Amino acid sequence: MSLGIRGKLFLSAAAAVTVLVLVSGLYLEGRLRASQLLQIEADLLRGARAARELVEGAPEGILDEVADRMGEALAARVTIIGPTGVVLGDSKISADGLANLENHADRPEILDAAEFGRGVARRYSRTLDEDMLYLAIPYDHPGGGGFVRVALPLTQVDEAAMRLRAVLAVGGALGLALALLGGGVVSHLLSRDVRALARGRDRFSAVIEGMDAAVMAVDGGRRITLINARATRLLRLPPDADGQPFDQVVQVPDLHRMLVQAEQGETAFEELTLPGNPPRIATVRVTPQRAPGGAVLVMHDITRQQRLETVRRDFVANVSHELRTPVTVIRANAETLLDGAIDDPARGPQFLSAVLRNAERMSQIVSDLLDLTRIESGKLALDIRPIAVHSAASRALDSVAEAAAARSVDVRIDVDDDLRVSADAQALDQILVNLLDNAVKYTPAGGHVVVEAGPRETGVRVEVRDDGPGIEPRHRDRIFERFYRVDKGRSREMGGTGLGLAIVKHLVAALGGEIGVEPADGGGSVFWIILDRSAD
Ligand code: ADP
Repeated sequence: MSLGIRGKLFLSAAAAVTVLVLVSGLYLEGRLRASQLLQIEADLLRGARAARELVEGAPEGILDEVADRMGEALAARVTIIGPTGVVLGDSKISADGLANLENHADRPEILDAAEFGRGVARRYSRTLDEDMLYLAIPYDHPGGGGFVRVALPLTQVDEAAMRLRAVLAVGGALGLALALLGGGVVSHLLSRDVRALARGRDRFSAVIEGMDAAVMAVDGGRRITLINARATRLLRLPPDADGQPFDQVVQVPDLHRMLVQAEQGETAFEELTLPGNPPRIATVRVTPQRAPGGAVLVMHDITRQQRLETVRRDFVANVSHELRTPVTVIRANAETLLDGAIDDPARGPQFLSAVLRNAERMSQIVSDLLDLTRIESGKLALDIRPIAVHSAASRALDSVAEAAAARSVDVRIDVDDDLRVSADAQALDQILVNLLDNAVKYTPAGGHVVVEAGPRETGVRVEVRDDGPGIEPRHRDRIFERFYRVDKGRSREMGGTGLGLAIVKHLVAALGGEIGVEPADGGGSVFWIILDRSAD
């Protein structure tokens, strides 16, 4: 059974009072008995001296009477013993009974009295059936002298001890009651404080856990005294890292170096790459704690921001790179024209048409980029309504028909007339045009392209299938990235910007659909999308 804090307090208070009463009781009783004995001994000595006065002046024959009188006067047992140990008088025994008494010469108090002038002994008197304290001193007498012995029962000592015990028992019980009462009050107040403390701690850890930052504190002995889940995850620590030595659980040398710096009183701030797969990038601030020593580590995982920043930088570099080629070509051609080629009837128009082609290419890139930006920003206004897949595919076919004819690529549509999807007409058109355009572009002369569609559990699957070169598995995931091309030269040659599939991917996502690419049986690619099926 586990005791609450109150129970523990009650028990310890009760135990303390009991031990205190017992120890002080034993001590007091010991002192009381000792002082009582001394007191009785003093009384006995006084009585014995008085009795000796009388005995020394009394005729020998009346010693038993003297003993009786003295016994009465002193309220004690008085015995007068002859030099040989014969009892001459005893206040507790009649004159006739004296003859039956044993010889007292070997009583310890008599032996001591004979040797030292005084003898004291304590023992049980069989004659009186009581514990007695005996004191004997010698007396002189013309008739031969002897010993006067005075004795008092020790019952009064026991009685005093019993009285003391009674007082202590009552006092102890009272003390116990008071202690329990006090303990109760204290424990109530204390447990209120403890509860408040725990509530405070709960709040504190809720704040620490709710923070966006990874937080860890170490004490002066480099033991982890506080850590939140974010820090545990970021540093890949075991879940029970709290309370463990920092040096044992944290495996990042840079953090150790920063902690040393903080221990020297300096705040350290750095951006670190934390080991792991994948590695994490974090800003780390280690602040020394003046009292009670140690340091606080606050870390922010900036891997995502860094990645976004990299994506943005790459994008700007890609755009610049894509635009540089046509700009360079336009410039070179314009310069050549200015240098005189403008007057050359044969080459002049050639240079001019190169300028035009590259200007168109630039405008294509810019318009694709604008489309992509508009779709990505979510600002595209979609008008979702039922659309027949067949008619959308036919419209797309119209826009690639010319290019397909020029390349002798056969394009066919194999879709039920009444199969409808829930989509935005313009978006679906652009998706199909881009996919068909690619299929026609990358399929060699004499190739075949077919658009197929059919219902699936999750919606309608529309496929654009070609028997072109296909796409190697390592490129399949990446071709939907901006500017990603399997063969750059070929793409440019075909007037591609590298943005077509990125636009398609974002449009499909905006429509709430899915997109993917698979190898076609017997070579070629299948680009598929799944869109919501329209009920009517
Ligand atoms: P591009 O303007 O270069 O066509 P896309 O984003 O439309 O850009 O396509 C990206 C790359 O994917 C293309 O450069 C090409 O390498 C590859 N690709 C797209 N469609 C096909 C296809 N049907 N067959 C083979 N490769 C394709």
